Amino acid sequence: MTASTLSTPTPRLSRLATLFGAAPATPARPVAVADETDMRRRVERQLYADIGGFLETHRLAPLPIHFEVAHAYLTGHDRSIATAIGKMLADDEPLTAEAIAQLMTELRPTESVPQALASLAEQLEARLTECMSATDLSQTSARDYGDALDVAQSQLATDPTGTLKRIAGLTREVVETTRLIETELKQTRREADRLRGDLDRARDAAERDHLTGLPNRRGFERRVTEALGDGDGTPHRLALALCDIDDFKRVNDVHGHLAGDRVLKFVGSFLTNELGRNACVGRYGGEEFAVLIEGHSVNEAVMLLDEVREKLATRSLVNRETGLSIGRVTFSAGVTLFTENVSSALGAADAALYRAKRGGKNTVQIASAVG
Ligand code: GH3
Ligand code: MG
Ligand code: MG
Repeated sequence: MTASTLSTPTPRLSRLATLFGAAPATPARPVAVADETDMRRRVERQLYADIGGFLETHRLAPLPIHFEVAHAYLTGHDRSIATAIGKMLADDEPLTAEAIAQLMTELRPTESVPQALASLAEQLEARLTECMSATDLSQTSARDYGDALDVAQSQLATDPTGTLKRIAGLTREVVETTRLIETELKQTRREADRLRGDLDRARDAAERDHLTGLPNRRGFERRVTEALGDGDGTPHRLALALCDIDDFKRVNDVHGHLAGDRVLKFVGSFLTNELGRNACVGRYGGEEFAVLIEGHSVNEAVMLLDEVREKLATRSLVNRETGLSIGRVTFSAGVTLFTENVSSALGAADAALYRAKRGGKNTVQIASAVG
């Protein structure tokens, strides 16, 4: 574009200038904004239409999850969803509500869990209804057969041949109905098994922390409840610890959130590997890990954790993206004997953790009621 075309108003610009009374001092700017808004509205209208068309073509109900998928696919805004949907369409895979719920469970395990569960519950209900009608059919068929036999019995003396024929016919019908019901129930059984698998996967996703792969708070608390149930009634062999990374905010501030994420993953697996089979490590919150240690007294648990703390403190971490040294990453911990319930044990461990922080960090403290 030359300087002269820039300074000469286009016919459209002159028309606007007339409309607004006088030519503005810098006409190009407001008109460009108006054009831009116009264009954006056109694009948005087209997108509404495309999303509607997409849902209609695939007979998808107007639900948020379907809008999200349609939007992600049509705009390419979310690459993972767009690629997955593109592949399903290329493979001629039907885009059903179930297929979408399944896809979103895989792509966004934590977010899509309620939707996935809702969809599973719907499928389960549908199967249950089918199963109940099969049972109804079976009952009706048995009752009709019984009634027909009663009638036949009374006619046996007068018309033995006809009666036998009728009974044979009725028996055939009942056998066919029974076969039908059997097939239906087998199918229901297969579906129920599949749904149970889906449900297990959804529950696992709901109880797992996406970043570290460790049990999240909910998952951890369930493990604790299970451990209590499995126990032999000797609570002194069960200890609970809360470990909090020291000055973690600094890692984020200096090296960025992604490097912070990698440090969280590293510390999570470090704790898991070092504490071994008798410990269950969960991500309890941001940079906080909860640990359940079984088969050790609380003093042994403190020693165990302290060894792990010391070992971690000797490591010097490097940000592999930038090559810069992150340096030493340490944690503080509070340990308690497992008393009556999860919340009181957590409260005691948290108070001990607080003391560890106040005392200068990078230490392990035992809960005061115990120590
Ligand atoms: P202290 O030694 O007292 O525990 O200090 P701190 O800096 O570790 O604790 P603070 O509570 O001040 O900051 C915790 C930080 O953890 C702030 C938050 O942004 C960060 N964080 C929480 N969750 C995540 C996460 O998933 N990824 C990343 N990268 N940072 C997170
Ligand atoms: Mg914290
Ligand atoms: Mg911290």
